[in-house]
Amino acid sequence: MPETVMAKKTRLAPFTTLKVGGEAELWEVLSLAELKEASSEPFLILGAGSNLLISDEGVTERVVKLGKSFNSLDDFSGQGDVWLGAATPLPGLVRRAASTGLSGWEGLLGIPAVLGGAIAMNAGTRFGSIADTLKEVELMLAGEMVRLSADELKLSYRHSELPKDGVITRARFSLTASTPEKVEAVLAKVDAARKGQPKIKSAGCAFKNPEALSAGKLIDEAGLKGLKVGDAMVSLEHGNFIVNLGQASATDVLKLIDMIRSRVKVPLILEWRLWGFGEASHA
Ligand SMILES: Cc1cc2nc3c(=O)[nH]c(=O)nc-3n(C[C@H](O)[C@H](O)[C@H](O)COP(=O)(O)OP(=O)(O)OC[C@H]3O[C@@H](n4cnc5c(N)ncnc54)[C@H](O)[C@@H]3O)c2cc1C
Repeated sequence: MPETVMAKKTRLAPFTTLKVGGEAELWEVLSLAELKEASSEPFLILGAGSNLLISDEGVTERVVKLGKSFNSLDDFSGQGDVWLGAATPLPGLVRRAASTGLSGWEGLLGIPAVLGGAIAMNAGTRFGSIADTLKEVELMLAGEMVRLSADELKLSYRHSELPKDGVITRARFSLTASTPEKVEAVLAKVDAARKGQPKIKSAGCAFKNPEALSAGKLIDEAGLKGLKVGDAMVSLEHGNFIVNLGQASATDVLKLIDMIRSRVKVPLILEWRLWGFGEASHA
């Protein structure tokens, strides 16, 4: 094992925004060579952990996290097409693009992802998604570097068709020249639209919006805001957010999900990725 790779049993909860999840062997990698080594056994790739529900028992796979050498926020000048590392935090990029007068990422304001996770999920809002500016990705697949165009990833609503076990290491984007004032004006609109979102621990929207419907509205109309299992609660502010009031377990969260699904008449598909619950529960 390369010396700088950290590989030890670690509780995963602190690496997620919901703050839920048991242990796994965590490998934080700082180079492609280390990534190759870490991904030579069954593994899961962790981004900012903002769309994950991890089992209380943890996961048996290695969990691989791209370290600071995959974060290119400090190098981002934004001129022309830019390659950015997959561990670059989206909030910082959105702010940096605004101050440099570059347009294209305004709709991503407030999404607490890193680029790899944002691409995997095609993160976005009604104001735009990561797909709007993405040109291509470089990924490690079975130890080899491969490039795929954005078209090949078939990005759609909170969905991408990344090859299984492909790890995005960097991605190329194209932004449009604008002015800081114009970009800030759009950001203010996006920010206003996000005002109703809870500030407590969550993993964002739990469910995808069913065709032409709002999952949050359906949950709200079913009278489920405030419904609780242990410390897991349907947010009082936003029906599609499940919040952790303190000590929620994954079991609490899953029970709450089942209760919501049984009380909302329209089938609800999870937006979250579930780790450590077996294949059957991935919907
Ligand atoms: C408060 C809050 C608000 C949110 N608002 C929004 C919103 O407005 N819109 C929205 O779309 N989402 C939103 N989310 C959800 C979440 O931020 C997005 O789904 C985001 O894209 C997840 O990115 P991440 O880096 O946290 O990925 P993670 O949650 O760590 O992982 C998500 C998936 O991406 C995969 N992945 C991560 N990195 C890589 C990589 N390098 N290569 C390949 N696969 C990778 C993981 O294996 C996993 O399958 C919100 C979440 C929170 C907590």
